[in-house]
Amino acid sequence: MATRPTTQFGTERTGICIMSIASEMRGILPTANLQRLLDALSAKGYRIIGPTAHDGSVVWETVRSVSDLPIGWRDQQEPGRYRLEQTASQEVFGVVHGPQSLKPFVFAPREPLLQIERTKDGFAPRQMIPQLEKVAVIGARACDLAGLTVQDRIFLNDAYRDPYYAARREGLFVIAVNCVRALSTCFCASMETGPRAKTGFDLALTEVDDRLLIEAGSEAGFDLLSDLSLSPAPQKLLDEAATRVDACGHSQVRRLERSRLPQALYDAHEHPRWDDVAGCCLACTNCTMVCPTCFCHAAEETPDLDHQQTAHVRLWDSCFTQEHGYIHGKNIRPTIKDRYRMWLTHKLASWIDQFGMSGCVGCGRCITWCPVGIDLTEELSALLVPASRSSVTSQQVEGP
Ligand code: SF4
Ligand code: SF4
Repeated sequence: MATRPTTQFGTERTGICIMSIASEMRGILPTANLQRLLDALSAKGYRIIGPTAHDGSVVWETVRSVSDLPIGWRDQQEPGRYRLEQTASQEVFGVVHGPQSLKPFVFAPREPLLQIERTKDGFAPRQMIPQLEKVAVIGARACDLAGLTVQDRIFLNDAYRDPYYAARREGLFVIAVNCVRALSTCFCASMETGPRAKTGFDLALTEVDDRLLIEAGSEAGFDLLSDLSLSPAPQKLLDEAATRVDACGHSQVRRLERSRLPQALYDAHEHPRWDDVAGCCLACTNCTMVCPTCFCHAAEETPDLDHQQTAHVRLWDSCFTQEHGYIHGKNIRPTIKDRYRMWLTHKLASWIDQFGMSGCVGCGRCITWCPVGIDLTEELSALLVPASRSSVTSQQVEGP
């Protein structure tokens, strides 16, 4: 994403009237004319990726036409359940999200790092930095942007800048969509990451009936908006868009109690609730695969059959696997209880100590895509009740 111009979105441009920039940085596009935005992106050399309905889910795919987007579809998500429904609506962005966040576009699920060839003098390694590709992703949500901020903190840290991630990140242009409908699994409002996209986007859209309010959040977004020559947004529409996004936040039924974190989770290390959740968890790794912030990875060698060359490849991994806890001849997390406890404690406690931010952005994907419907907001609530009180409560519930 390019450097951000500022106003209500961030920093300041000097010598220019703030109000005039604010009005230049947003405009109205009738939804029927959305193809103009896609065409403008194509003209600037971007491959456009957007949500598409496939096999009962929404997945990111290359889109060329507005008709490729999931018009009229809506998603219903609950613990362990995801359903798409076709409605009579003409909404383009009625689906909130599928299992994928922005993570795969920057932290590739399979990234060849080195190609090593045998030579007469030994070995010749060649670094496989991905070629710069201009990719515009339309339809990212505020929680996805927050997830991307976390990944940036991990992979673009000055001391350990990852050149593979950096190359993919450089070509990314993000068109966010502000949420006007919350899923039953969303809790971004309590994490203060959504439902409004505040930072980290190039353009942000709010769909209000048959119109799209478009705001620029970067210089690249501002340039594209200028090319579109949109009508200015009337105050009434701005107010209506704000009201709908605020209502989405207020409608969220889940929340995560953060006030006592991280210490409360460290204090809960021996809590009996870990045994309860371990009794349900399948260690399937789904929660980590769909999470926009999880960054565990492993490396694999794939030599050719005559041992003349090998590829050194980075693959997504999960802290829920046996192998991930295997270090120096010993598995440091042999049980599912060890792994679930490590995952949740890292997400909501030690991540804060490590990166100065939460490892959870409140997208709710791990709740939806857990085959047994384990809900981290419920687990945290139970873990925050001191063990002595929780055991009294459970005896009372079981009754005579
Ligand atoms: S832990 Fe779950 S709710 Fe939090 S960011 Fe990851 S997938 Fe989303
Ligand atoms: S998705 Fe659910 S069952 Fe699978 S590892 Fe995560 S918590 Fe366990």
